[in-house]
Amino acid sequence: MLRKTKEEEPKNQLLMSMENHKMTVMPLPKGRNSSIQAFIPACDSTGNDGDNNNITKKLSFSKHLHFDVCKCNTTWLKSTISPFPTQRGCNAVDPFATPHNKNYDQWIIQHPSALENFKEIVAASKGKSIVMFLDYDGTLSPIVDNPDRAFMDDEMRDAVREVASCFPTAIVTGRSRDKVYKFVKLEELYYAGSHGMDIQGPKKGPKFAKIKEKTVLLFQPASKFLPLIREVYKLLVERTKSTPGAKVENNKFCLSVHFRCVDPQKWSSLAEQVNAIIKEYPNLRLTRGRKVLEIRPIIRWDKGKALEFLLESLGFADLHSVFPIYIGDDQSDEDAFKVLQYRRQGASIIVSKSPKETGASYSLREPAEVMKFLHGLVESNKVTVN
Ligand SMILES: [Mg+2]
Repeated sequence: MLRKTKEEEPKNQLLMSMENHKMTVMPLPKGRNSSIQAFIPACDSTGNDGDNNNITKKLSFSKHLHFDVCKCNTTWLKSTISPFPTQRGCNAVDPFATPHNKNYDQWIIQHPSALENFKEIVAASKGKSIVMFLDYDGTLSPIVDNPDRAFMDDEMRDAVREVASCFPTAIVTGRSRDKVYKFVKLEELYYAGSHGMDIQGPKKGPKFAKIKEKTVLLFQPASKFLPLIREVYKLLVERTKSTPGAKVENNKFCLSVHFRCVDPQKWSSLAEQVNAIIKEYPNLRLTRGRKVLEIRPIIRWDKGKALEFLLESLGFADLHSVFPIYIGDDQSDEDAFKVLQYRRQGASIIVSKSPKETGASYSLREPAEVMKFLHGLVESNKVTVN
């Protein structure tokens, strides 16, 4: 059962975005204009809302999301952040990561290598239009200590450029759209920043016949939260500056608090600090990624919704004619994996060297393998075309 909170319709946001940016905006896909509102998942008696997000597990929700989120986060913080390892510095062990252990052999059977099963993936895509979705951090670029320096190397950029010349390609990231564009620097891509809350079409214009008639796409379903995000950003910067190494990143429609370079002894107090701020804002929620705390508006919009929106907007709503491939490494990518799993469509690929709970069908170990996979797709497309 879903409870619903009142939220402005994305259609209006679209019009506002259009006015603000003087851009041509594609209409929303059919059936979406009135259904995208903020939903709060209700929990069962165990507190499990059916979501993989650990924050909401083992908790009960009451009438007020504000209160519930606070409880969720407090429980989560106490149970998962307190027993930190004593290792210091930027290379400290991520408390959320599952260690690479003896279960890997079993895990890889359930999520086999996308490289070793490349022929199987290509065969499944035969006769369909591939659409590529790529996360950025940890997928196209290595995870680094300073998030401002998560640069993508030229070799990877060439691989993405080539794949985008064959298939419509989107970058789907928690970063702000502007920032990820500065890293990727490719005009021919679709960019879905802020966990899909800021979607823009190619600056260069799409080359694919099916979408040629469509012009620039801009979709920002969380525009009304911008003042709130700015306010909380200032608060987070102010309150976390006493924690050396903590870095607050403004991703426009969402915020990140990176703790990769924070002394592990201080992770718990930092998380409590962040939680204390967020609990004062009922329209925001706190989740976690790889050594990062994420703050987002409560609207029901994520990377999975962004994937669906882009597929439909690109004219690929027909389930049988399209083969989406989504590659990502983090918890937020699971929303997209779930969508592909539900649609029984395409290939979902997690980037991980260690076993972790995932809805992805396949795996790749690191960005270098992602690059090999992209090269493989380009080569196989040449064979198909010729
Ligand atoms: Mg990532």
